[in-house]
Amino acid sequence: MGERERDGDQRQASQPLLRTSAPAAAPGLDDLHPTDRAATSGDRARQIHDGILAAILEHRLHPGTKLGEDEIGAIYGVSRTIVRAALQSLTHEGIVVIEKNRGAFVARPTMTEAIEVFEARKLIEATIARRAAERCDAEAWQDLKDHVRRERQATARGDDHTAIRLSGEFHLAIARIADHRTYEDFLRELVARSSLIILLYRRQKAQVCGTDDHVDLAEAIGAGDTERSSRLMLHHLDEIEAGLDLIEATRPTLPLSTILRGG
Ligand SMILES: [Zn+2]
Repeated sequence: MGERERDGDQRQASQPLLRTSAPAAAPGLDDLHPTDRAATSGDRARQIHDGILAAILEHRLHPGTKLGEDEIGAIYGVSRTIVRAALQSLTHEGIVVIEKNRGAFVARPTMTEAIEVFEARKLIEATIARRAAERCDAEAWQDLKDHVRRERQATARGDDHTAIRLSGEFHLAIARIADHRTYEDFLRELVARSSLIILLYRRQKAQVCGTDDHVDLAEAIGAGDTERSSRLMLHHLDEIEAGLDLIEATRPTLPLSTILRGG
């Protein structure tokens, strides 16, 4: 993980929109081969997929950004067919939208989607936290604590891109300890969509993913306290949601007569 962190630091310097090489720091990536010659078109599409995903998780790619096939093809040195395959898979994950005759864009989740995403996260992450507490061994606990320490370090040095990515990855790290592949895959998608939601709806200065909460969660999970882990996770997700401006969507719509007559 130390290796990944250094990669993250190096990228800070230039901050390209997308990376041309496999992003070593991207969350939960399978080990991507360095030799492009051996890479199949599926591998290359995966590389583009992961590059765009990492940029979204680091808040370098914003909702509504146009993802031009030709531009991406030139950045990665691949055909439009491969770019299209990558964009297609991101579309299935709700992270990219393809508009007829206009092309692909980074998704702009609506308030309703935002509320749904957090509802889904609370549902599965409470269970994930409980499972993780049941399964967390000493090594996994140490990894989790190391992860939180890196989050703190990134925040302390003002490296917001790395901090925000690590905070999302913390949730995925818990899912890995929970050892449930389906939850983990589902959560990966929800975390990426949350990243876009936070960019769109965060109240000014609201904290995204409190590191203190992560410290408490890591402690509870490491201690094998299933109830506390689950409760802390729910509380943590409630707090993140509370930092978002989703009031309009949750407020019941009043009839026009009530509004115009002043109630
Ligand atoms: Zn968090």
